[in-house]
Amino acid sequence: MSVDVITFGCRLNAFESEVIALEAERAGLTETIVINSCAVTNEAVAQARQSIRRLKRERPEARIVVTGCAAQTQADMFADMAEVDRVVGNDDKMRGSAWRDARSAFDALPFGISTSEKIAVADIMAVKEMAPHLLEGFQSGLPRVFVQVQNGCDHRCTFCIIPYGRGNSRSVPMGAVVDQVRALVARGHTEIVLTGVDLTSYGADLPGTPKLGLLTRQILRHVPELKRLRISSIDQVEVDRDLLDVIADDERLMPHLHLSLQSGDDMILKRMKRRHSRADAIEFCAQVRRLRPDIALGADIIAGFPTETEDMFARSQDLVEECGLTFLHVFPYSKRPGTPASRMPQVPGDKIKERARRLRAVGEAALQKRLASEIGTTRHVLIESATQGRTEHFLPVAISGETPGAVRALTIAGDDGARLRV
Ligand code: SF4
Repeated sequence: MSVDVITFGCRLNAFESEVIALEAERAGLTETIVINSCAVTNEAVAQARQSIRRLKRERPEARIVVTGCAAQTQADMFADMAEVDRVVGNDDKMRGSAWRDARSAFDALPFGISTSEKIAVADIMAVKEMAPHLLEGFQSGLPRVFVQVQNGCDHRCTFCIIPYGRGNSRSVPMGAVVDQVRALVARGHTEIVLTGVDLTSYGADLPGTPKLGLLTRQILRHVPELKRLRISSIDQVEVDRDLLDVIADDERLMPHLHLSLQSGDDMILKRMKRRHSRADAIEFCAQVRRLRPDIALGADIIAGFPTETEDMFARSQDLVEECGLTFLHVFPYSKRPGTPASRMPQVPGDKIKERARRLRAVGEAALQKRLASEIGTTRHVLIESATQGRTEHFLPVAISGETPGAVRALTIAGDDGARLRV
């Protein structure tokens, strides 16, 4: 048996797991399970620990390697677990040398490695460049795949642990991104999703400081065979003019944006150290809707951030309507060790859960409103599997008898409250 990579968390981890699988196998590792962990919430870290214990029970002969953001921020905790054979850093995991070192360590010492010897985690804040990779294809073979163009973050939002897991912002040179996209399209992947931690800070560290707008323009110009380009989560306050023009002009850039809004209350936004106001968020949504009237907008919003009152929470609920959101990702506030917000007066846990439930209900109603408004329209649906597709607006569609990977113009006949029907 070769190497199994278990992925937690975000699209970035999904892309990186493909690279890990490749590099670990190239290093000749066998009988190995790699946990590519997430640290965004306490829950995510607990899930990684549970999986490690379960997998070791199920396959006692296998080696367990933990990497990802939780390994980077809590290396000792994982190294103290008897089930764990090695802890690899979040940048190290992208380098072949880390997996060759793991192989030599395992060959040298069959079992019973001491805690300190298990840890191979470099200082993530010292990382200045992205390890270059050119994936020929995704093992999943799915029609939609992610391309990592940026990593890390220079901001320090008070609730967020990501910079401590991924380091400061760094970008993949434009030429390498275009080559990566071309290779994946040549392998038959239909839709490419550009992903990063703080995508809109793309290029700030590159010569000539190209921005995300120019990157999208270059990809669409130099890969004419690419049918669909999608952008994952962005910080709307950093969107550049070029990107707005591409949104307005180019049909191949999908009319769907996901925004990192986090709250609808200005005082909470200040305490989060976000760089936008409620009014900025509402104006940005109106601006992109003027440029692309059918655009679908989504957002991340945190429920129960420290000091949040009922009135402040109500402003987050109202923001859904005011911004005309369709997709809502609700994050119950999770106290992360070492973050400034963890030292602020906390909202009681049951109130956090209750607010998250209420906000999700607002989100579901907004999605249903958009689904209903689609009936009678003709949409370009990317066939993802035998039973599901997604429109250019990222709306799910129930389908049958279609070929995965194809893009079909289909007329929307109805919806079931969660998916469209044709
Ligand atoms: S912008 Fe803020 S929330 Fe996003 S990764 Fe950076 S610190 Fe975290």
